[in-house]
Amino acid sequence: MPGGIEGSETLSSDVDLISYSYTMFNNFSRPDAVIRPSNPDEVSSILKTLSEERKKVFIRGSGTSFVGCPAEGGVLIETRRMNEILEVDEEDLTATVESGVQIGHLLKKLPSDIFFPIDPDGLSLSTFGGIIAEDSASPLSLAYGTAGNTLLGLEVVLPDGSLMELGSTTIGARGIESLFIGTEGSLGVITKVKIRLYRRPERLLLYEIDVPHVEDAIEMYSLADISGIPLLGFEFYYRDMFELGGKEVNMGSRVHMLVKSPPKEEVIHEKIKSIAEIEGALKIDVEEYNPMLLPRWRGREYLIEGLKSTGRTVSFISFTVPRDSIFEAISRVDAIGSRMKLETVTMVNPSMNWILTGFTYNFADEKEMKRAERALKMAINQLSEIQAIFGFGTGTGTNMAGLKLRSLDNRELFEKVKKCIDPNFVMNPIFTSKEE
Ligand SMILES: Cc1cc2nc3c(=O)[nH]c(=O)nc-3n(C[C@H](O)[C@H](O)[C@H](O)COP(=O)(O)OP(=O)(O)OC[C@H]3O[C@@H](n4cnc5c(N)ncnc54)[C@H](O)[C@@H]3O)c2cc1C
Repeated sequence: MPGGIEGSETLSSDVDLISYSYTMFNNFSRPDAVIRPSNPDEVSSILKTLSEERKKVFIRGSGTSFVGCPAEGGVLIETRRMNEILEVDEEDLTATVESGVQIGHLLKKLPSDIFFPIDPDGLSLSTFGGIIAEDSASPLSLAYGTAGNTLLGLEVVLPDGSLMELGSTTIGARGIESLFIGTEGSLGVITKVKIRLYRRPERLLLYEIDVPHVEDAIEMYSLADISGIPLLGFEFYYRDMFELGGKEVNMGSRVHMLVKSPPKEEVIHEKIKSIAEIEGALKIDVEEYNPMLLPRWRGREYLIEGLKSTGRTVSFISFTVPRDSIFEAISRVDAIGSRMKLETVTMVNPSMNWILTGFTYNFADEKEMKRAERALKMAINQLSEIQAIFGFGTGTGTNMAGLKLRSLDNRELFEKVKKCIDPNFVMNPIFTSKEE
């Protein structure tokens, strides 16, 4: 066993293993051991040994995803001790960090006019290894793309212990490092990443627009998208978010548009106003938004505040559907909520066709908790019928799961690559037909 790898910590007590058995989403699966290496050489020795022993290996950054610890009966390699910011190049706008660095750690070290836009959990807890391995998205992905779009190079340890430094010297040129984007720890342990940084916008406007129906919010995005409005983000919150605790609201959805202030602000304002009016807006508010708050923006706070005010918790599902099925998806979740007598919360990012929805329950009420679990299963079944792809990410994120569903050729090619790189099928083996 790799407990003897010098420098790396190995945890195997009951208390430690239980604390590594959950992700932020309460998924439970208990590893046999947790190893916490502090540098790539340790990762290399660990992987080589585990691969030779044909032991299942799972990787974990911060565990903020659904897929961060499916480590039942395997060894979990946790990357958080590899947490050094190696270089920030303020001129070229790049940063090189070890893979266990959390987004918030880098954000704090950057000068105020530079930032990194992808903060998927909204709490800046995700690691750089995790966001690349999942090709994570965030509300600002509309303007900046997903985590994979920010990647310039990476260092990875393969299951045979070999250490590869991959990347292009030309900024913007995609190289073979892209192979690891979205592979969810199934090909190797990413130990270092070089990512692109961005200039912080100087002035931002936040539009808050209430519309009568969900369809109006979806349509508003389509119109805004083609009208030349310099959008940084667009999300809408279904009325259920504001109805928590039995409150009554008179709108169908609340739209949040974050706009980079252009030189002719008045022209853009008129455009947004007229689009909102076409969609029958009930309210149009606009305020300046402090750019220093980026990459966070206010929308997600509704969710957190709503849950706090009712003292309830929520079982989430995250999925993408084709744009023309967004309304159908929300209606199906709504109907399940009514049937199961559970309040729901739903937010939608139409630029990525992505929906986060969930059923709320009282943690102390076991019956209600069971009902929420049943509701979630029903939702997954019903949403599968309209081509939902589940998992946190972009729909291209949670990649392997997505690829599996999308195309047999994609899957076949991935399996061939996997066979070459990981012939003993030890790394995150849930993604291989051999183990399924
Ligand atoms: C409230 C909330 C909201 C969220 N919203 C979004 C959202 O809008 N969009 C979105 O995309 N995600 C979202 N997420 C999910 C999550 O934040 C991201 O998936 C995140 O990128 C995972 O980072 P992590 O460090 O926690 O990785 P983990 O959860 O620990 O791991 C994620 C996956 O990456 C692999 N992995 C981790 N590190 C490495 C490494 N060094 N090398 C190789 N593989 C590795 C793991 O094996 C696992 O398969 C949200 C999460 C929360 C809690």
